[in-house]
Amino acid sequence: MSMQSETAEKLFQAIEKRRDDLIALTQDLVRIPTINPPGDHYLEICEYLKRRLTSSGFAVELVRGIETPGDSDRFPRWNVIARRDGATTGECVHFNSHTDVVEVGQGWTKDPFGAELVDGRIYGRGTCDMKGGMAASIIAAEAFIDVCPEYSGAIEISGTADEETGGYGGVAYLAEQGYFSPERVQHVIIPEPLQKDRICLGHRGVWWAEIETHGEIAHGSMPFLGDCAVRHMGAVLSEMETSLFPAMAARTTEMPVVPEGARQSTMNINSFHGGQEETPVDFTGFPSPCVPDSARMIIDRRFLIEEDFNDVQKEIFDLLERVKSERDSFSYDIRELHHVIPTMTDKAAPVVESTAKAIKSVLGQEPEYVVSPGTYDQKHIDRIGRLKNCIAYGPGLLELAHKPDEYIGVDDMLDSAKVMGLCLIDLLTDAGEQGD
Ligand SMILES: [Zn+2]
Repeated sequence: MSMQSETAEKLFQAIEKRRDDLIALTQDLVRIPTINPPGDHYLEICEYLKRRLTSSGFAVELVRGIETPGDSDRFPRWNVIARRDGATTGECVHFNSHTDVVEVGQGWTKDPFGAELVDGRIYGRGTCDMKGGMAASIIAAEAFIDVCPEYSGAIEISGTADEETGGYGGVAYLAEQGYFSPERVQHVIIPEPLQKDRICLGHRGVWWAEIETHGEIAHGSMPFLGDCAVRHMGAVLSEMETSLFPAMAARTTEMPVVPEGARQSTMNINSFHGGQEETPVDFTGFPSPCVPDSARMIIDRRFLIEEDFNDVQKEIFDLLERVKSERDSFSYDIRELHHVIPTMTDKAAPVVESTAKAIKSVLGQEPEYVVSPGTYDQKHIDRIGRLKNCIAYGPGLLELAHKPDEYIGVDDMLDSAKVMGLCLIDLLTDAGEQGD
């Protein structure tokens, strides 16, 4: 028996022994209703994690994302960062989870914050996305510390705010403060619900922009005296249908995005407004006859690692110029709302290789490598933190996220805790180096 498999065996036992603790920890986290927006109970969940991790020997800091979007005295953006240094110096493995959950919505048959355990599943808002993953990473770290107390380097665990609303008061803020600098942290695992046998390497890019076409108001009975902004926007839409959408559909990617439909460039028209504002719901009269002098459209363009961001923008700018050249009196503005550059960690990166090996030994199968169609906090770790050695790996089914009767399977949490624990053995001990 190799040194690695003996240590691994001890780790697996230490994790299985903690089954009840894992369930209770997940339930405690789910019962704190950290709904975002507005960002409720952040301090409470950070204090809870502080107590838990302090008693496991971590040095714990609470950091508020001061003056970030949404931060106020009523809804402060609190984050918790815990670090436990090993016996000797070495690399740091960081587990990052967001503490916020989305609104409850309709259609529940279970109490959304009851965290009820039924047939090996815990139900509730945030069980799958992603308090179950967070609990699994904490149990993995605690079991590892028990089995390998003389480890080298450091383990960090963070619980961060606002992932669901862009992560500006959470990971982005911490990255700006240096918490994800490559000098401090070398490996990052984000236990988002990507499934216990999948490694998520990154995500596509995003560009949000608002296009406005201008016109001139006039009496609706004499539209020739005005200039209809909605017709101008219609021409933009028509040009998009003829040239842009087919061009995007033809552009496919080497990124293993799931679901497969997202393995191409896509664009959603997020909203469209033109002419008079909607009348109040209790108004029962008719609209007045006016030619619309403004129309606005918000686009949500998702792009591939093979596409250059400047080209993505230029494609839309050129399209608008084309329409302009074909229409008298066409005038427009375009305004960027925000953008995120695509990111994909190399399959040969140490944290990827280590997780792949661990999945093989825990589940007896090769991992599936995937990329997320939408973004998550890896974007800030990559761009602000400049740390490339980062993945999302955790229990739960992505399809359950944000849905009614969201749940997490206890066995799935245990399996992925074993995978995360094996990564710690591999990255922070000699037993890892001696194994193959
Ligand atoms: Zn999430």
